[in-house]
Amino acid sequence: MPKFSKTSLKNLSQCDHHLQILFGEVIKKIDCTVVCGHRGKTDQDAAYLSHRSQVRWPESKHNRTPSLAVDVVPCIGGKPSWEDHDCYLFSGKVMGYVNTMNMEAKIRCGADWNGNGSTRDQELKDSCHFEMI
Ligand SMILES: [Zn+2]
Repeated sequence: MPKFSKTSLKNLSQCDHHLQILFGEVIKKIDCTVVCGHRGKTDQDAAYLSHRSQVRWPESKHNRTPSLAVDVVPCIGGKPSWEDHDCYLFSGKVMGYVNTMNMEAKIRCGADWNGNGSTRDQELKDSCHFEMI
């Protein structure tokens, strides 16, 4: 059974408990790593300047305490993968968990911001970002 690294557990611990419950289930079957939970001002500024985020501090859901967003990438052969196809497949699997776990919180992913089932109409491609709505 896959397990989160200490860094992943630390990052996930900064997130809303619904996200913790979700990825606590996901990691039992799918190897993955939590690359970002809460993002402080310095990290948010850097994310904005490098176009990894479209918003400035403190507008991102990553800037809340606890964080209302989490970035999780799949591990392929034990190594994190940011490769598009791997991330889209992973986010589809995660959203399957969201649906079958019947969570009281609404969660969406950056592969399909408007939830219409298409990944082709996204202005910001962020397939490994998951957030509360
Ligand atoms: Zn994110």
